[in-house]
Amino acid sequence: MKIARIGPVGQEIPVLVGENGQLRDLRGIVDDISSQALGDGLLDRIRQSDIGALPLIPASGVRFGPPVADVGKIICIGLNYTDHAAEVGLDLPGEPTVFMKGCRPSGANDPVRLPRGAEKGDWEVELGIVIGKPGMYIEEEQAVDHVAGYCLFNDLTERSYQMELGGQWTKGKSFPGFAPMGPWLVTGDEIANPENLAIWLEVNGHRHQDGTTANLVFGVAAIVSYLSRFYALEPGDLIVTGTPAGVGLGHKPPVFLKPGDVVHLGIDGLGEQRQTILAWED
Ligand code: MN
Repeated sequence: MKIARIGPVGQEIPVLVGENGQLRDLRGIVDDISSQALGDGLLDRIRQSDIGALPLIPASGVRFGPPVADVGKIICIGLNYTDHAAEVGLDLPGEPTVFMKGCRPSGANDPVRLPRGAEKGDWEVELGIVIGKPGMYIEEEQAVDHVAGYCLFNDLTERSYQMELGGQWTKGKSFPGFAPMGPWLVTGDEIANPENLAIWLEVNGHRHQDGTTANLVFGVAAIVSYLSRFYALEPGDLIVTGTPAGVGLGHKPPVFLKPGDVVHLGIDGLGEQRQTILAWED
């Protein structure tokens, strides 16, 4: 099952995404896809409803907002693909590298503004995990029970803020608009194995990242279990699991985003995103 939120910023409505991209209005079932609704069994309520009776909505030209209205924490895993750690010259960590993103998620295809004067904007296609059931000290064997579903995510980064100003990575990760999420939240029953999905990203039609989630160092269950030792995981929390090789920083010499660039990314079964890069003043 795929669910999403469509409409202008701040006015999104919940929809079910069917075969061939058909959209059905979910407002007869729920006001919005919120963390509270996810925690209160929204996915089961949709499954038990008469899908065919839900009104169809014309799908052409719609904007997809983030598929959860009020994502709580955005917890990020760094250096979680062997090839990516090598390209940025950092050792593979023995324990998961964890940092937070401090901005709100944006829509899959919303434009991305670069920080004023910044020249090292970079891309990171990632598999996102949305939590559906609260928990702490979650065993790996139970981790999947706490997952509402998966989504596509671009962990946009200003490398100069991340790596040249001292302190913590979060400075380079939290600029407004640096968290495109979606277009959909895809439930686990539709993803046979989240650790065997093609994951890719192109800039201006040139493929930079071309990987597979099979190369995750710490997999989905391990990450959920590990993070639950440190964080109370709550419905609506988003965990993004790291990026494969091919980021701009990994090129020799490095390649960074500039206004006018178009970033196009996707993961098998989780849809695609396309962002136009703008200057802060645009
Ligand atoms: Mn990342």
